[in-house]
Amino acid sequence: MSVKNLMRRNIVELDPYRCARDEFEGSAEVYLDANESWRDYIEEKNINRYPDPHSSMVRKALEEVLGFPYEKTIVGNGSDELIDLMFRVFCEPGKDSVLLLPPTYGAYKVFASINDVKIQSGPLSADFQLDEEAILGALDEYKPKLLFICSPNNPTGNKMDFEVIRRIAAANSGITVVDEAYYDFSDGESALSLIDENERVVLLRTLSKAWALAGARIGICVSSKEIHDVLYNVKYPYNLSLPAQTVALNALLNADKVREGVIYTIKERAFIVAELSTLPSVSVLPSDANFLLARMPNAYEVYRKLIEKGIIVRFRGKELGCENCLRITIGSREENLKMLDALKEILG
Ligand SMILES: *Cc1c(COP(=O)(O)O)cnc(C)c1O
Repeated sequence: MSVKNLMRRNIVELDPYRCARDEFEGSAEVYLDANESWRDYIEEKNINRYPDPHSSMVRKALEEVLGFPYEKTIVGNGSDELIDLMFRVFCEPGKDSVLLLPPTYGAYKVFASINDVKIQSGPLSADFQLDEEAILGALDEYKPKLLFICSPNNPTGNKMDFEVIRRIAAANSGITVVDEAYYDFSDGESALSLIDENERVVLLRTLSKAWALAGARIGICVSSKEIHDVLYNVKYPYNLSLPAQTVALNALLNADKVREGVIYTIKERAFIVAELSTLPSVSVLPSDANFLLARMPNAYEVYRKLIEKGIIVRFRGKELGCENCLRITIGSREENLKMLDALKEILG
């Protein structure tokens, strides 16, 4: 069965918008084709011109640095745009469903609701791993168009067993989206290797976390060529601004520095785990990400008291299976020490 059969009919049949920069590629002396201003006022090079709709330079760098095939990669205005695109391309509003695996990233639910897509749920096991049998059962029962697997998972921090992901994706006749926003902090295998063997697998990455570009909004989606081409027609034509493309390229050309930063973060993660283990009332989940999920008595009160001391963490105690949990991002050594001191003082 072609993956096109999983898509909304109107999307498959879409006659995509062609922008000026699509019709003429290459370089010329005089551009009078896009109704741009002939000058700029803020001395930001080329900011008076529309950006490259293909984000070609960024995608070339992604291929060279991260091995994402150019022809199968699109970049979006954050992962947000790409998650929303998945719903818009595959799910008929008011009719189709998505399978989510709580506790997980909140954005999936929000974009499902915005697109009027029914949410089914296949909770993770008590140790926050994929419950293979339950998930296969839910796929069979609900026949969702989309399944989102977040690995390493937010807010729990653990990665999922790769072979289980592979088996679930093989059994899933819908689309399996694997969100690897925190992949750089883990030592797991990437779903990138599944894309060639399974045309229904979609990989999401982002430059917001390890690559330190949250402010620039750059998400990455790798998929089979068939899915890629359709996502391409549906995305906003100029979805990455020129400044975003410029900083993305810059970061990718500085991959060595980024990797040093990731090593620092992983060391700090181990340091915080060791420090928190000296607090008898706190238990910390093993993390493959740049944050820790820590359980403690009266977590909400601890959260409020941390705010009073000027330290902001995330209260996650309302998420399924995360009662009394705080999600703490790994910061610099200085920030981490301030957080630890405050926590030690609050917990006595
Ligand atoms: C932070 C995060 C993202 C990244 O979102 P952007 O829109 O790219 O900043 C994606 N998925 C998960 C699970 C995250 O935690």
